[in-house]
Amino acid sequence: MSKAVSRQDWEQRAAALQVQGQAYIGGQYQPAASGETFECVSPIDGRVLAQIASCDQADADQAVANARATFDSGVWSRSAPAKRKRILQRFADLIDAHCEELALLETLDMGKPIGDSLAVDIPGAARSIRWCAEAIDKIYDEVAPTAHDELGLVTREPVGVVAAIVPWNFPLLMASWKLGPALASGNSVVLKPSEKSPLTAIRIAALALEAGLPAGVLNVLPGYGHTVGKALALHMDVDTLVFTGSTRVAKQLMIYAGESNMKRVWLEAGGKSPNVVFADAPDLDAAAEAAASAIAFNQGEVCTAGSRLLVEESIREEFVGKVVEALKRSWAPGHPLDPNTSVGALVDTTQIDTVLRYIEAGHADGATLKLGGKRVMEETGGLFVEPTVFDGVTNSMRIAREEIFGPVLSVIGFTSFDDAMQIANDTIYGLAAAVWTSDLSKAHRAARTLRAGSVWVNQYDGGDMTAPFGGFKQSGNGRDKSLHAFDKYTELKATWIKL
Ligand code: NAD
Repeated sequence: MSKAVSRQDWEQRAAALQVQGQAYIGGQYQPAASGETFECVSPIDGRVLAQIASCDQADADQAVANARATFDSGVWSRSAPAKRKRILQRFADLIDAHCEELALLETLDMGKPIGDSLAVDIPGAARSIRWCAEAIDKIYDEVAPTAHDELGLVTREPVGVVAAIVPWNFPLLMASWKLGPALASGNSVVLKPSEKSPLTAIRIAALALEAGLPAGVLNVLPGYGHTVGKALALHMDVDTLVFTGSTRVAKQLMIYAGESNMKRVWLEAGGKSPNVVFADAPDLDAAAEAAASAIAFNQGEVCTAGSRLLVEESIREEFVGKVVEALKRSWAPGHPLDPNTSVGALVDTTQIDTVLRYIEAGHADGATLKLGGKRVMEETGGLFVEPTVFDGVTNSMRIAREEIFGPVLSVIGFTSFDDAMQIANDTIYGLAAAVWTSDLSKAHRAARTLRAGSVWVNQYDGGDMTAPFGGFKQSGNGRDKSLHAFDKYTELKATWIKL
């Protein structure tokens, strides 16, 4: 098939798309045990894309039993790392080969621009799986320093059955940050995508089988959090629960683990990241472009969104003007299937209502609207909000304290380094932070002072599979990506032998 290049091409493909909505257990697609389904609605135009199996306890029981039996059989868990590597590399290759189809599913399902699905989400998902596959036959265990008549082995073993519960903002990418290390380490996985964006997770299950992943190693259960998500979190035979989503649900999952089998719980949760611009930033135009992108990319539905822009008072007015211009120039909402669109639709009506409520709260709390503030393109039937900038925000306002998860920027002024660091760290979250300065010592001091899992200097949102990603404080625990991610999916064993 030739490459889709225009909105018309993508619309034609969307019309012809076959969408799978069933659960995937033990290597087969099947309806939910109850027969229940729910509608998958596109936020682009309100179109129903598919009926999705609404899984619950019975499906969780079946999938976990399947995953357990497969794990215990050793067909994957005890296979040679080099064999797992080859199969997962094929899986990554198949994701790449189906990039256009998966990108289209992602965009139709959650509203992000097709250009981003094609360039960021799907290649990123393939890269995560490939990187972990390539690593797995290069990681060695340890021999402890013992006396001459003893041997101490420190080995890593797969944990067993992993349940992965993921969000809707980067549906396949967030799933792949879990699947890569979980599968490479030999675990069996039950993946629960968000009810708001289940399509790519369901689709790739078949690609994994095609790549050679034994049936039962990867199971996918679409459904709601309070039904199948809760069933997995409370399940007595799930060894490890990995999660990306809100802090509210993350806390609940820790309770479920405590109420059940003390399964390990690893959480990637929310953020309210400070983007700190000092007057001596090397290039204010570049900083403004980055500040605009940090709040408008993916409609602001990004855990690391630079949603609090802290600007030194001496340049605040000038800098806010530049950010507003950058947003106007490059970040207007458009049709998500248009390859030139940079801001798509918000994921669903609940989310757009939340974002509009926060915009009202910004007004009510006395912040000054500099840009946007409204729902737009309503005639399309889609859920679009203009990138919005509030200036004159104080860090106690709701729009500065709570994660909005939409394109709403709060600008806060500061007068000194200590003032900036105090405001930046005055949050329950600690996912990411950025600092812009030409002063090397100031940059390093800031990097040491900021309580966040990722700190960026003179850039926003840098990172790669080679570096760990995750949060301090209520942004979570543990890390995705890099070799550190394997810690979540392995147990350490000490074997002590008397010689
Ligand atoms: P959410 O917490 O509402 O849902 C996440 C997942 O949890 C979904 O699959 C949902 O069905 C499930 N869930 C909900 N209630 C549950 C329950 N009681 N038991 C078990 N599962 C349950 O989050 P969301 O709205 O899908 O995603 C947005 C959030 O994700 C934001 O807070 C964002 O910051 C966060 N996020 C964090 C990262 C990160 O790496 N730290 C990355 C992306 C998104």
